[in-house]
Amino acid sequence: MLNLPEQKVALGTVRNIIRDTFEYGKRRSLEIGAENVFDFSLGNPSVPAPNCVNDKIKAILESNESTSIHQYTSAPGDLKNLETLAASLNRRFGGGIRPSDLYFTVGAAASLTCTFHGLTVKGDEYVVLAPFFIEYKVFIEGAGGKVVVTPPNFENFQPDFTAIEAAINENTKGVIINSPNNPSGVVYSEETIKQLAALLKKKSEEYAHPIFLIADEPYRELVFDGYTVPWVPNYYDNTIVCYSYSKSLSIPGERIGYILVPPTVCEHDKVYASICGAGRQLGFVNAPSLFQRIAAECDGETSDISVYQHNAELMYNSLTKMGFTCIRPGGTFYLLMKAPMESALEFCLKAREFELLLVPTDAFMCEGFVRIAYCVPTERIERALPAFEKLAKSCL
Ligand code: PLP
Repeated sequence: MLNLPEQKVALGTVRNIIRDTFEYGKRRSLEIGAENVFDFSLGNPSVPAPNCVNDKIKAILESNESTSIHQYTSAPGDLKNLETLAASLNRRFGGGIRPSDLYFTVGAAASLTCTFHGLTVKGDEYVVLAPFFIEYKVFIEGAGGKVVVTPPNFENFQPDFTAIEAAINENTKGVIINSPNNPSGVVYSEETIKQLAALLKKKSEEYAHPIFLIADEPYRELVFDGYTVPWVPNYYDNTIVCYSYSKSLSIPGERIGYILVPPTVCEHDKVYASICGAGRQLGFVNAPSLFQRIAAECDGETSDISVYQHNAELMYNSLTKMGFTCIRPGGTFYLLMKAPMESALEFCLKAREFELLLVPTDAFMCEGFVRIAYCVPTERIERALPAFEKLAKSCL
């Protein structure tokens, strides 16, 4: 009889609720026409990549580099690309970053898995702040770590420091933050980052080992007027940045991101080597070479985020006017809406009656809310508003 790891079979069989809703939307579109399905399930950017992306791809493919660009690179990335990226980050965030602090990855998912695999030894725990990206649990447990969940401050969806302090113990290897946040859309303030840094410093001293702050930042540039995203390494030495260009450049299918282990990280070279070793063990070899180059040369550019800001305002203002309670987003392209019934899943099923595809946030470890991904054409939101009206009338 074939013996297989049951947990992996389960992971490969059962889709997460976001993918499940998205697949339902595709089936439903075949039945009633795509224009009649209002799918707000998936964080798939609808705004085109900025010109620099396609212009550079074309120029490279038409140049005499069209062969070498497809070759293997060094495992952390081609040195020239690492130098270009380091220079860009230093220009944007204040200096000190060396090419040898950077490691190109296959998107934020790989940035996180390499980091968890590189850091984790038996017994390690990671504190995660709800609501959080569903896959954190898969990645952390896959690396042999234990997930310790803390609730947010439900008033403003900033972290609950009392809960975080209570969750940290001698086994804590790291705390993961994601700001701007998926699914809440909330941006952590400078005050929040300062407070977190002070707490982790105190706890690292108390337990006599460093506690890493892992900043998962695929939405760093997707931030609206009036909000700023603090550069976390400036506040806490043992920060590791896990970045992705999936959302900022609207290229999630191309799979490109990086890990930054800043020079301030304790035992820097060993930590960096362990992350590289994890990448090797996981079989990543090197991140896509064409997109290393595109990412490095387009770092800091974004697709037109004014569309997301417009969508955010339209969604937030319309839904709150209808009587729904929503969390005002400061960035990303997600909006959190309170489910006006006990079960958020039931509310999503009710919404399906009006062809509205929303995602319950129970799987983000935050019960009672639904996530609306408004990275869709504005016209879809406008056409969906009457359906939201009907939903409001049916359950408010
Ligand atoms: N982290 C968060 C918070 C995300 O929302 C996502 C994707 O939606 C990821 C990580 C993974 O990003 P990538 O597509 O770059 O692997």
